Amino acid sequence: MHANARLLTVGGLVLSGLGLVRPAGLMAQDVFPGARVQDAYLQWPLPKGAEQYADIDGRRMLQDVVAQAEIARRYRDQIHPKYWGRIIGMESDAWAAAWLAGRFRSIGLSDVKIQNFDLPPQWYPRTYGVMVKSGSETVELVSAQPFFRSPGTPPGGLNNLEAVYVGLGTEADFMGHDVRGKAVFTYSMLGAANFGAVARANQKGAAVVFDAQMLPGNMRYQAYPGNTQVPTFTVGNDDGAKVRAMIAAGGPVRVDVRLDIEMMPNRQTALVWGTLPGTSDETIYVTAHRDGWFDAAGDNASGVASMIGLAEHYARIPRSQRPRTLVFVGLDGHHNSGEGSATGIRWMVENRAQFFAKTALMINAEHPSTVQTIIRPRYKRGNADMIVWGNTYMPQQWYAGGPTRPELERIATRAFREFGMTHYLDPEPGRPPATDMGSFYRYMPGVVASEYHHYFHTDLETPETVPWTGLEASTRAYARIIDEVNKLPLSALQRPEEPTGP
Ligand SMILES: [Zn+2]
Repeated sequence: MHANARLLTVGGLVLSGLGLVRPAGLMAQDVFPGARVQDAYLQWPLPKGAEQYADIDGRRMLQDVVAQAEIARRYRDQIHPKYWGRIIGMESDAWAAAWLAGRFRSIGLSDVKIQNFDLPPQWYPRTYGVMVKSGSETVELVSAQPFFRSPGTPPGGLNNLEAVYVGLGTEADFMGHDVRGKAVFTYSMLGAANFGAVARANQKGAAVVFDAQMLPGNMRYQAYPGNTQVPTFTVGNDDGAKVRAMIAAGGPVRVDVRLDIEMMPNRQTALVWGTLPGTSDETIYVTAHRDGWFDAAGDNASGVASMIGLAEHYARIPRSQRPRTLVFVGLDGHHNSGEGSATGIRWMVENRAQFFAKTALMINAEHPSTVQTIIRPRYKRGNADMIVWGNTYMPQQWYAGGPTRPELERIATRAFREFGMTHYLDPEPGRPPATDMGSFYRYMPGVVASEYHHYFHTDLETPETVPWTGLEASTRAYARIIDEVNKLPLSALQRPEEPTGP
């Protein structure tokens, strides 16, 4: 175990020997509250009249989050120390599929199967590294992480590039800078606004682009494709600030960068299926994508854990009291954006007549519980630039069938309220709704609630960032929604296919 590893305890129960992911020096020891936070989270008491949901237990579900994080860390420890997770097409994808099928079987679901799909060659950053030099000082940017699908460098790397700093990377920031053939450093403000800095640097002839993520600390952040023609990386705030200081000191700053990309052929991903037959052939689907970067505890071990929690709950209820058949699907996912992304999901949509003709509801469990964090605590002394943790979960962005299904929205918001599942005041106005629901919503009544926040897609998105209390609140609410929807006929829920667009 790593020297600063901790045991994750939940209510005094040691879940596993899971160590915190804290690459040496990436974050001050006292900032990441780790194990103690799970005991600090506020629990919403089980309301009167909801006794049948008492068995949906957040602490229990958190164990499934931890188990999935351990799969990701096994991949990190055995295969790739920097680019890791439950990555589509890679070994950890297969491990996670086998694990989920095992969980479904242990619950007693029927027709449990792993349905494999061939993938086109998958982008894979075999090795990478960035060194920055100024005078006698040499610094390795340990947080540098290539954007997904970034082009690589030539085999020997790109060496001795001049570093140039362009701040937020607006047109005004680039004025007076010739960035052609140089290593360009841009900054992103906490994801608050995208000024197009990366694309602009690429278009103006940069040799390599670095986008510093202004999140306190020095997290590795895995970004979706930047669609650049040159190697492009994110770097953590501390690394970015270091480079900025070196440039500000006036001396020439030089950058060596290496990124070896392979397109891995002959890879597969999978849908993982399990069924709880009801008394009719009408169906309710519960889905959750299995993939994710780093521990991917929030995105989306938490959703998979919630799906398993629902399967466990309904497996305890006699079939005679399950009016509709429940189908649970571990989706392949979408983090391999571009070719081969959502292969299984697209297959389900193409075959929708076979699956969804009698579907009353789909619940997509995706990031259902995220720790509330505060970046700018106004009156905190010391570490004021750090991320401060609250003892509860974030309100969630949500969609519940859209404006043509006011009854479903009513059922969902009532259930959210009953179990203390905090959410945005209004449902998502845009179409398609975020998350994998965006692939399905046109064809069926869907419900999804989701949150991301500061640790999303970073190497600190560990199980500690998933409050067990939020898992419990969301999953109990989902069960209530299923039970209320079961009181309605299909005709009250089904609608003609929605057109695409807003
Ligand atoms: Zn997700």
